[in-house]
This record gives sequence, structure tokens and C-alpha cells, in this order.
Amino acid sequence: MSKAEIGLIGLGVMGSNLALNIAEKGYPIAVYNRTSSRTGAFFENAGDLRENIVPCATLEELVAQIKPPRPIILMVQAGKAVDEQIEVLRDLLQKDDIIIDAGNANFRDTIRRFEELEGSGLTFIGMGVSGGEEGARHGPSIMVGGKEDAYKRVEKVLTAIAARFEDEPCCAWLGEGGAGHFVKTIHNGIEYADMQMIAEIYGILRDGFGMKAGEIGAIFKRWNEGRLNSYLVEITAAVLEANDPQTGKAMVDMILDRAGQKGTGRWSAIEAQMMGVPATAIEAAVAARSLSAEKSLREAASEAYGEPAPAGGTPDAAFIDDLELALFAGKIAAYAQGFAVMAEASSEFKWNLPMPTIARIWRAGCIIRSQFLGTLAQSFEADAGAENLLLIGDFVAMMKEANPSLRRIVSHAALAGLPVPALSAALGYFDAFRQARGTANLIQAQRDFFGAHGFERIDAEGEHHGPWGGKA
Ligand code: NAP
Repeated sequence: MSKAEIGLIGLGVMGSNLALNIAEKGYPIAVYNRTSSRTGAFFENAGDLRENIVPCATLEELVAQIKPPRPIILMVQAGKAVDEQIEVLRDLLQKDDIIIDAGNANFRDTIRRFEELEGSGLTFIGMGVSGGEEGARHGPSIMVGGKEDAYKRVEKVLTAIAARFEDEPCCAWLGEGGAGHFVKTIHNGIEYADMQMIAEIYGILRDGFGMKAGEIGAIFKRWNEGRLNSYLVEITAAVLEANDPQTGKAMVDMILDRAGQKGTGRWSAIEAQMMGVPATAIEAAVAARSLSAEKSLREAASEAYGEPAPAGGTPDAAFIDDLELALFAGKIAAYAQGFAVMAEASSEFKWNLPMPTIARIWRAGCIIRSQFLGTLAQSFEADAGAENLLLIGDFVAMMKEANPSLRRIVSHAALAGLPVPALSAALGYFDAFRQARGTANLIQAQRDFFGAHGFERIDAEGEHHGPWGGKA
């Protein structure tokens, strides 16, 4: 007799933790992994939760062990592996069974998979899961895309395993098709910007003042008590205060300055560009990771140009306050950009993305969780029609207070030769955004000059051309 209520394929870092989370919430789960030794090891280590886990050696067995209609979560590597699993499952599953892709899929692949499964009788859900290993085990933030009635069929288990913020589950249906994976992609883009801007502030203190990791950690720890309160600032403080057990030195000083990326940050920048929405802080963060990977080139450039020596001294309290507010202002700009990209995608793909709900389900479980998201959710609720976060009342006030600090810190870093690509992109965006008369009049004139593209006049309707006759 079938025992399990749900299945899961892929017992890697995320899948194994998600399976334990599901079993712990009282849902018997059948699990399968391509490499069977991993299934055995997972079951061995599952302790008391074993009574709710059915390890399966084959996909046929997995399917047989789940009560129909079967929800099956795929937690395998994004891309080809997902297509391969769906292909095999198509032949094994029955009408109304549900395949839930919970990996970091590109939302365009998710849309394609919906189309490919249409008419198959199977239901598909594309679901973003955030929170890393810890989140998967004890409560991630879950962003669901697909048919709303399909979500209703799995809502109970998903809300049971999701993180909770003030007893509200951080799980929601966000729209049809690729909506869930798209929102997860933008979540990751924002995460890149948040992390990069934190790293830039760290760089100003380390390279500008020669401060030690532990001293910088203490500053972040204090900031975590205030407006910057967030998981990323909290772990930054913990990381900076940790020592390497092997050398006794600060752990962070023993880590190579080369950061990896798996694709979602890059996709968020690409999608922003495709939709014509400026997301410069996110793009700068993605580019900074790419530049970080060019270690030997950076070493050669450092040799060729030299690097500024630390100014020395100790930053005074006013400077530290400026850093805090600069980071806050940068954060506001990056979130404004991320939400603007989602607003554009929502209209382009007809998803009707619920912005306040997105902010609410990011308040716990996910990597960018923060106090800030609570304010953001309330602001979106109060001003549902707002086109940009920077135009919502609360945020106007916060940005008015914080942007002078961002300006001072970016100027300080520029003059000191310290790289702050994401913070300066955030400032550039803000300055251009609040400029009623920009400089694109000159761009239009240039375009008309060399390509007869025409321009609009400020005093008349229609398309016009300039008096550049002499050029030819
Ligand atoms: P992982 O630890 O590397 O595990 C990958 C899993 O995919 C393993 O179970 C592996 O099986 C399976 N797999 C790979 N290729 C396969 C194929 N061709 N056919 C069948 N199974 C295959 O990865 P992970 O970190 O758990 O990530 C899983 C998904 O969650 C990815 O989409 C990832 O982007 C996403 N995600 C990860 C995080 C995170 O913090 N790690 C957070 C959110 C989302 P074998 O054991 O046989 O190799």
C-alpha cells in the first residue's frame, strides 16, 4: 500500500533538508536520488524522522509509494537534469499528479515546461525556494508559480514547511507560469546587491583605514540593532568576528577574494536589461563578482597602477553613521530597482504579481530577510499603485535622510581610490531618477545627427529633425 503523501527527487544539500523538514511536519515522504548511495546515507542519518521517510531505489518505486494524486518535488540541479526527470516522470505518472520544480530554474525554462506539459494531464508548478541549507531544513521562503488551483492542492504542506514571520507562513502563490521562479531570480539579484554593498563598506574600513576584521565586525553587529537589521548584516558581523582554527587569524583574511556565482544574479541583470528597466546596483554587483574572479588580471593591474595606501587614523562616529546611512540608501535604491523589474515583468507576462505579498514572504526564511522588508510590505500595502519604491511616502522620507550620506561615502571612496561600484551605481540611479530634466535631449540630437532618428520637441507635437544639414 502506498504510504507517502508526497515525493522528492534529488537529495543534495537542498533536497535532503527539505525532505527532513517535510517529514518533521508529519507528512510521510518518499525520496529518490540518482546516486543511490546518497539515498541510503540520507535515510541512515534521518534519525527519528525515518518513520516518515520512504527511501526508494528507483523512480518506479517512488511513484508506487506515493498516494495519488501525487505531488513530487524536484530538487535537482537546474537545467538539463530537470528536463530529464520530467521526461521520465511523464511516463510513470498519472493524470492530476503534480510535478513541482523547486530548484533555481530560469523562469523562461519554467514557461517552456508548462507549455510542454500542457495536455499531458499532469500539473506543473515552478517554485522558488530561498534560505539555503538552513532555510530548507527549518523553514524557507517559498515563491510559487503555476495555476492557483494547483497551488491550493499543495498549499497545506508548503505552508507547513515554510518559514513563519509572526505566525504568518512565508509562502505564497504569486502568479501563473514562471512567476515563482522569476521572483526568486529577482530575490537573488537583490541579494547580490545587498551583499556587494556590504562588502564595499567593509572595503572602505579595511583598505581606507586599515581596520581589523573584528573591529569592522563590531560595527556591523551594532548596525544590526538598528535600521539595517537583517540576516546578511548579522552574518557579516559573525563572519568578521570569526577566527581561523588553523592559523588563529581572522577567518575572512584567509579567504581568497574570488566569489562564485551560479546564474540567478546574472539572470536578474539580463532580464532587467531585456525589459528596459534600470537595475544598475544589481548589475554592478553581478559585474563585481565577475571581476572578482579575474584575480590574476587584478594583480597585474595593481602592479601596473599601484593601489592607494590606507589614509590611516580611525573613522570618527560621524563617518561611521554616514556609512550606515549610505548602506541603507544603497539598499533602498537596489530594492526599488528589483521591484521595478518585477513590476515590468508582471505586466509583460500578465502575472499580476502581488508586491506586498512578495515583501511579506521575504521577511523570514530567505537570505535577504530584514526589518526593512516589513516597512516595504506596509508601504506597498498603503500605496498599491506606486510605480517605484522611491515614490512611496515612507521611502521618500527615508531616502531624503539617507542619500546625503551615500553621496559623501561614494565621494570619499572615489577620492580615496576605493571601489564602490554598487553604491555608486545606486547613487547614480537615484540622481538620474529624481532629475526632471535629464540629458537625453543631447542623446536624441546626436542620434538624429548621425542616424536621422528624429526627436520630440518640448514645444510641439510630432517627430522633428535638427538643422544638421552641414554634416553631409
Ligand atoms: P546539490 O547539493 O549539488 O545537489 C544536486 C542534486 O541534483 C543531487 O541530488 C544530484 O544527484 C541531482 N542531480 C544532478 N544532476 C542530475 C541529473 N542529471 N539527474 C538526476 N539528478 C541529478 O545542489 P543543491 O544545492 O541541493 O541545489 C538543488 C537546486 O536547488 C538547484 O537548482 C539550486 O540552484 C537550488 N537552490 C540551491 C540553494 C542552495 O543554497 N544550495 C538555495 C536555493 C535553491 P546526485 O547525487 O546523483 O549527483
